[in-house]
Amino acid sequence: MTSDFARYHRQMLLPAFGEDGQARLRNSCVLILGCGALGSVAVDMLARAGVGHIIIADRDFVELTNLQRQVLFDEDDVARALPKAIAAKQKIAKINSAVRVTAVVDDINHTNIERLASGADVFVDGLDNWEARYLANDLAVKSARPYVYGAAVGTTGMSFAVLPYGSGAAEWETRAGGSLATPCLRCLFGEAPPPGTSATCDTVGVMGPAAAIVANFQVAETLKILTGNFGQVRRTLLNIDLWTNEIPQLSPGKVDNHSHCPCCRERQFDYLDGKAGSSAAVLCGRNAVQLRHRQRPDSVDLAAIAERLSKHGEIIASEFMLRAFIKEHGNDYELTLFPDGRAMVKGTDDPGVARSVYARLVGA
Ligand SMILES: [Zn+2]
Repeated sequence: MTSDFARYHRQMLLPAFGEDGQARLRNSCVLILGCGALGSVAVDMLARAGVGHIIIADRDFVELTNLQRQVLFDEDDVARALPKAIAAKQKIAKINSAVRVTAVVDDINHTNIERLASGADVFVDGLDNWEARYLANDLAVKSARPYVYGAAVGTTGMSFAVLPYGSGAAEWETRAGGSLATPCLRCLFGEAPPPGTSATCDTVGVMGPAAAIVANFQVAETLKILTGNFGQVRRTLLNIDLWTNEIPQLSPGKVDNHSHCPCCRERQFDYLDGKAGSSAAVLCGRNAVQLRHRQRPDSVDLAAIAERLSKHGEIIASEFMLRAFIKEHGNDYELTLFPDGRAMVKGTDDPGVARSVYARLVGA
């Protein structure tokens, strides 16, 4: 055992790891998409496990309400108003200085995700909205790289490791004599739910352990993938409720059963190509950003969204629009929603901030 690896002794005792597995981890690169409740746990564990390079992409800053569950951060990060990606990088430097961390403070969208993911072997999902998830799924399928989905809200969590065709499992596939490919996220969930229909941690809350257990599941799957143990990757959708103690397992089956998937069967990468999802337009001189869905949703239930947002601030609602006056961490935002899913966020001229406010309060 080389002295470089001494700290990993307990992990290398595991037969599936050994010195060879540890060397594989050192030569690996993982992209963390979002460094919140899931991402901060994943970064911590992957750095401790000895993944050589971690790219952390997140657009938000550490806030007091994050500390209940985002274990990598502390009150000092809040006081310094550090971006999460930067705070995470500083923590990892103290935890495992051998790990190279690239911190990217940016909104993840179709114009930059391919560049962000350059060199990454696996994508770990710490995202808070469907649009970005389907974008990551598009890139995973297109570039044949694994993508480990995860989501937690309330007391529930879900996770699934997407192994697209050709995603580095070639040696195992040859041995197994068949394909290891799994369904992709669009096979599993179909079209993204209309805006405003998904619960978010900001509107219904989240229990810390629900997020932590999902993130640790994601890390375990990522370690299996990176050490070449593709055969051990779970083939079912993890779907847990820590409050009711339900842990049902859904079997998504073989990818061949999902012959109509536009992404992994038809190879249409609508999100990556910028044909699906939302576009953001900065409204010059008005300190506002307009968000518009490229594929117009059927209709948005403004009354239901108004009900949820009423806990956050003053609401003006009619059948034609909903306006919410939100005070968040010293900033005032005016969020206007229209039945066709269009939204206007006043109080910022940064599309990333506008997307963040929308994703957290409305659900995208
Ligand atoms: Zn698919």
